[in-house]
Amino acid sequence: MKSSLEAPEKQISEETSAKPQKQAPASVIDTSKMSKGKREALELAEASRDPLDERGSFASNLFIGRYDFNRIYPWPEQSAEDRAAGQEFLASLEKYLRENIDADEIDRTGEIPQKNIDDLFAMGAFGVKIPKQYEGLGLSQVNYGRAAMLLGSWDENLTALVSAHQSIGVPQPLLLFGTDEQKKKYLPRVARHEISAFALTEWNAGSDPANMSLRADPTEDGSAFILNGEKLWCTNLIKAGVLVVMAVTPPKIVNGRERKQITAFIVDVDLPGLEITYRCRFMGLRALYNGIVKFTNVRVPRENMIAKEGQGLKVALTTLNTGRLTIPAACVGLSKRLLEISRKWASERIQWGGPIGQHSAIAGKIAEMAGNTFAMEAMTFLTSGLVDRKAGDLRIETAMCKMWSTETTWKISDDAMQVRGGRGYETAQSLAGRGEEAIPVERFLRDCRINTIFEGSSEIMRLFIAREALDPHLKVGGAIFNTTLPMSERLKAVFTSGKFYAGWYPRQWFSSGAGKIDNLHRDLQKHVDYSARTSKKLARGLFHAMARFGPKLDREQLLLSRFVGIATELFAISATCSFAQYKIDHGESADEDLSVANYFCKSARARIDHYFAGARRNVDKRGYQLTQELLAGKHSSLREGIVR
Ligand SMILES: Cc1cc2nc3c(=O)[nH]c(=O)nc-3n(C[C@H](O)[C@H](O)[C@H](O)COP(=O)(O)OP(=O)(O)OC[C@H]3O[C@@H](n4cnc5c(N)ncnc54)[C@H](O)[C@@H]3O)c2cc1C
Repeated sequence: MKSSLEAPEKQISEETSAKPQKQAPASVIDTSKMSKGKREALELAEASRDPLDERGSFASNLFIGRYDFNRIYPWPEQSAEDRAAGQEFLASLEKYLRENIDADEIDRTGEIPQKNIDDLFAMGAFGVKIPKQYEGLGLSQVNYGRAAMLLGSWDENLTALVSAHQSIGVPQPLLLFGTDEQKKKYLPRVARHEISAFALTEWNAGSDPANMSLRADPTEDGSAFILNGEKLWCTNLIKAGVLVVMAVTPPKIVNGRERKQITAFIVDVDLPGLEITYRCRFMGLRALYNGIVKFTNVRVPRENMIAKEGQGLKVALTTLNTGRLTIPAACVGLSKRLLEISRKWASERIQWGGPIGQHSAIAGKIAEMAGNTFAMEAMTFLTSGLVDRKAGDLRIETAMCKMWSTETTWKISDDAMQVRGGRGYETAQSLAGRGEEAIPVERFLRDCRINTIFEGSSEIMRLFIAREALDPHLKVGGAIFNTTLPMSERLKAVFTSGKFYAGWYPRQWFSSGAGKIDNLHRDLQKHVDYSARTSKKLARGLFHAMARFGPKLDREQLLLSRFVGIATELFAISATCSFAQYKIDHGESADEDLSVANYFCKSARARIDHYFAGARRNVDKRGYQLTQELLAGKHSSLREGIVR
């Protein structure tokens, strides 16, 4: 894997890792010409952002043309002990779901029977990753992912209940940031009998937490905080005993300017002044226990603060860095189930003289489902395995898994509905009522739509990934465009970045070659070589865009999203190759695994071509203008002839 051209790429890591200590985050991006709202949002996000690990990660390095396949290969295999530790729980969860959970009935009634919740608590399903000393099962991320996969294949309402509780509710932030006292007090409760929830969103604070207004004012003696305000769409709220609440605490002066402070608290729902005022209902996830919670002078003791005052957003972001892997794991389960439904129907249903799976329009959909499901499993369990190995900062990988898996699963559910035809659109209950098998494609489609919106919408995931992708360049050259810095510093940045790019840029035109990787099948080797070459092409493209747009590049969201799309597909191809080789070496169906991996890699390469073509030629600018015209009330003909 080592190439003679690696040194300058190493240089980008050395150069960039040397800089951030010298520069406060606010000076990396010039916020001086932004609107107040945008500046506040960006400064808060930047202040809550930990600098990326100096070595980057496999996925983050794709953007600077460095292809470290050896960081994800050989496949991070689950150890025999870890597998054995999870086996009993996973086997009983699978049996319990199959025999005791009527997902269609839960969907129809909008309620999960309390007995099911109690049984799942008794089984340990609400404390999978909580260490045994706090009465949890103490299992690994991979085992937790396997549990989410089982849940996702059966019932999305239960998945949301279990996942919101553990991945973003009290357990994960406490495991990461909690004091010993907090862990001792709350972890056994949430592992064994009390549901938890996470309250961040408000009416005016959805994707933009800087708009948050729920206040937490310290008492005079400083022993507690008084909470006032409301939170919207809090999943699990209706059943919860304890919440993680993000609130605004008094501002701090940073660089001469007042900066908003967001702080995280553990809040018991039985505190006086806390009121659940509404249960929200949705298109899917009809048994979600989601609602609005109102705080009127709720007194929360200081010892319930998570991390330090002002670190609430950091708590939320760090929690999600790993918490975000649960939804993709559930998506793998759901996609496998939808693939199985489609495969079976496409071979049974005869139309126009043959099974519909032999008509190429339907065959194409099923092949795409299969390839994408294989890749989704590869990306998600590769990242989970790396989490268990504590293999550095994986925020880009988890964000890519979340974005790609949720969008792909939505497409898979849409295609499964098409394959099932009218039966796909019919409810399971109606199918059963007229004597057909109750196959719930319609429910799955409704239930999975939300996944691209919550826990970081797809648009926000793309911005998040793009921010990290630009980070090495911002550190080297960001100061040039930063009008808040003294001219001498900006000129110095011109010189250092000029020197740096004179070395780095030419090398992006030469193949470093992925090198010969021991024991990699020659087909997979070709995809790995392609990915190494293409990551350099991506790095060049990003550099050209920076040269063209300068500090205004952040406004080019559609262009950036194509670069993010390319890197995500490269990550998917690479994870797929690593996974396929592992399966070839350890499984009994080497030809089949190779066939599906090859199909996926080739189709991903076609998507990458499409992204590059779009980056060269597009109608982004015209589209943006058109939307602004529409927002301004023009094009009234498009509103004519409808009921308004
Ligand atoms: C079923 C459900 C469960 C939920 N559970 C929880 C929970 O447990 N706890 C909790 O705190 N919240 C929860 N939420 C809230 C959820 O996280 C938010 O809906 C999500 O963060 C998006 O916020 P929003 O809906 O206000 O959309 P907005 O922020 O208003 O965004 C609307 C659209 O604009 C896009 N957009 C916004 N800003 C930008 C930008 N700068 N650039 C490009 N595009 C942008 C968004 O991606 C989105 O497509 C839940 C929501 C639902 C519907």
